[in-house]
Amino acid sequence: MYEHWLPARKRLALVAHDQKKPELLAWVAQHQAALIVHDLYATGTTGRLLEEALGIPVTKFQSGPLGGDQQIGAKIASGEIDGLIFFWDPLTAQPHEPDVSALLRIAAVWNIAIASTLMSADFLISSPWFSAPYCQQKPEYRSPG
Ligand code: PGA
Repeated sequence: MYEHWLPARKRLALVAHDQKKPELLAWVAQHQAALIVHDLYATGTTGRLLEEALGIPVTKFQSGPLGGDQQIGAKIASGEIDGLIFFWDPLTAQPHEPDVSALLRIAAVWNIAIASTLMSADFLISSPWFSAPYCQQKPEYRSPG
């Protein structure tokens, strides 16, 4: 591990499965002021809804089932995303289930902030570090050989 300072302005990815989109949109409306000071990224449909709700540009990737989760995962692996708010649906089968698992996995690999329920998202956004510099313990992985 090594210490890596994140600035107050974070790079946050938001994703919600279809059945969870109303929950995410209600949460976003509640926390609009805290969210718009950050750089937001999202899968396609979630991103479009967020832009409408927040009135700020969101960097949009493909829709989740078309590769958007993987694109966000790649950004995490490149050190370009600091937090993931991912309202995944535990009650509906997803065609891109492997991508969902992979996204959660790569977020854990790189020790970024993850919230995948309404309650954990509330905890995350009410942390003092959400809007202040934070010293992240960044994992150091060595290539074999
Ligand atoms: P969407 O993708 O924002 O394009 O709906 C989310 C997902 O299903 O992973």
